[in-house]
Amino acid sequence: MTDTKDLLVPDLGDFSEVEIIEILVSPGDELQVEDSVIVLETDKASMDVPATDAGKVTAIHVSVGDKVSAGASILAIEVAEQPDIEKTKLMSPAELMAVAASSSEAPYSAAKPESTAKATVSTELVVIGSGPGGYTAAFRAADLGMDVTLVERYPALGGVCLNVGCIPSKALLHAAKVIDDAAAMAGHGIQFGVPRIDAVALGDWKSKIVERLTGGLMQLARQRKVNVIQATAKFESASRLVLDNGETIEFKQCIIAAGSQSAQLPGSPDDPRIMDSTGALELDPLPKRLLVVGGGIIGLELAGVYSSLGTDVTVIELTDTLMPGTDPDLVRPLQKIINKRYEKILLGTKVSGLRATVPGIEVHYDGEKGSGTEIFDRVLIAIGRSANGSRLDADLAGVEVDERGIIPVDKQMRTNVPHIFAIGDLVGDPMLAHKASHEAKVAAEVAAGEKSSFDARGIPSIAYTDPEIAWVGLTETDAKRDGIAYEKAQFPWAASGRSLSLGRDEGMTKLLFDHESGRVVGGGIVGPNAGDLIAEIGLAIEMGADASDISLTIHPHPTLSETIAFSAEAYEGTLTDLYIPRKRKK
Ligand SMILES: Cc1cc2nc3c(=O)[nH]c(=O)nc-3n(C[C@H](O)[C@H](O)[C@H](O)COP(=O)(O)OP(=O)(O)OC[C@H]3O[C@@H](n4cnc5c(N)ncnc54)[C@H](O)[C@@H]3O)c2cc1C
Repeated sequence: MTDTKDLLVPDLGDFSEVEIIEILVSPGDELQVEDSVIVLETDKASMDVPATDAGKVTAIHVSVGDKVSAGASILAIEVAEQPDIEKTKLMSPAELMAVAASSSEAPYSAAKPESTAKATVSTELVVIGSGPGGYTAAFRAADLGMDVTLVERYPALGGVCLNVGCIPSKALLHAAKVIDDAAAMAGHGIQFGVPRIDAVALGDWKSKIVERLTGGLMQLARQRKVNVIQATAKFESASRLVLDNGETIEFKQCIIAAGSQSAQLPGSPDDPRIMDSTGALELDPLPKRLLVVGGGIIGLELAGVYSSLGTDVTVIELTDTLMPGTDPDLVRPLQKIINKRYEKILLGTKVSGLRATVPGIEVHYDGEKGSGTEIFDRVLIAIGRSANGSRLDADLAGVEVDERGIIPVDKQMRTNVPHIFAIGDLVGDPMLAHKASHEAKVAAEVAAGEKSSFDARGIPSIAYTDPEIAWVGLTETDAKRDGIAYEKAQFPWAASGRSLSLGRDEGMTKLLFDHESGRVVGGGIVGPNAGDLIAEIGLAIEMGADASDISLTIHPHPTLSETIAFSAEAYEGTLTDLYIPRKRKK
């Protein structure tokens, strides 16, 4: 027996009318209960409308672009009489506790008892945060067939990386490079004149790149039927989130990907001339004199941008080295260049006071080479990032968070509460987008029941300074600190035809080899495009390659990639492009 029913637009909460942005079914399609039929979008979120009955679609009553209200008919469906359909059922809190207890001895007592109020959203997997960690996890899990809800506090997806981190900073660094490359040609017979900089137009270009990428993510979420909700989420228990829009989400599993934020300098006055990296990316306005507090990667990248745009830059760094922790031989070529270029670089120096005055920000500093007080037009605080783990009421779910806001996880990215995972910046260093997305895939795959774990041999790090600095795997600094025996071979770019033809000769490529097996265990590169080149060394490490695997791979000429092959040849003693006394006879 059949019966024809209309599928109606459900209750739309605060909205009287919502636009249809996608129709996912056609007349004749067979539907199951819970199959998505249309996608509605408000300025805050997109929402799939699921079928409430199983059967055959006989007519569609709406079109893309229509604005619909609750109760409007979406389609007609010929409903077949059916046995009881088993709907997706969320585990009860008691079941969740039983699953958790069976898979781990993790302490669970801190979890708050479940509220009895009905959740507004029920989902198999909820992901908190839509940065490179969060969106990758949500998309991978959806691709593996999971019903996924992604909660993001801001209107645009993409997190720090796409909106105020990796992407906008690299757009501005590209602009800086164009200016510097053009200026460098003046010494080789081509003069372009002084660049006229329209900071507003430059900012618009950067914003368009960001919008293109973040808009693309929204589309990818829709295509995968990931339910995106714009709200700030906090835990209410080990199976429920409360959102600041009044909704609650009941979940079977959760991936926390809430990222990190710029660390603040204690005691800084609240003044728009004191910026974090997000403010610095606005370039509004370009200051005459900029102080960058912190000589790490983010500080030095942005210092480079401002310097190329014409600002006089001073860098103050607390430790004795720029980019603390990085092998000194990789940092040296950059330091040599910016020592000449920047107004001052003060190492071993602490900023001990900032005061907002009418002419500028008065900065007092104390250092190994003395103290001083100076006025800067703007100050960029780039002293690191702090994890957001302690901003989520994670204790109500029983999830451990350390005093730095970091959530400890195992190799499957599980927290101490086994059905709650954590990834990205808030699980600790290195705070990098590609680490976050790699961890995201592991967490999503484990949540979907696959065998997966994080066991990368190296995570590349890159400073997109000029010259770029990149390294992966073992570093000499770590090897010396931990007493790890290694062998090293390097190739100076002064002997690379490709590097010289770019007008650059300061670069260097080095490979580190395991003392016993001769396998590549680490490597570092400084020079233009080091960030792109480092991937080959990363692959060599993952594949367990030795020097001959690299040297016997024919590298195209003339390229900077040859410097990796030349380093391998230097290790073997087969290098002909330089004369290096032989270490090993081939
Ligand atoms: C200027 C700058 C340049 C950078 N350049 C690079 C680079 O070149 N390469 C690189 O690899 N890395 C770079 N990084 C670091 C990179 O941005 C981060 O490592 C990466 O974004 C971390 O991803 P994530 O998913 O862990 O968190 P995030 O990108 O921080 O995303 C977390 C998301 O969670 C949301 N959120 C937080 N709390 C909640 C909540 N309670 N409810 C809902 N949503 C919430 C946030 O709004 C955010 O969108 C840069 C960072 C900065 C600041």
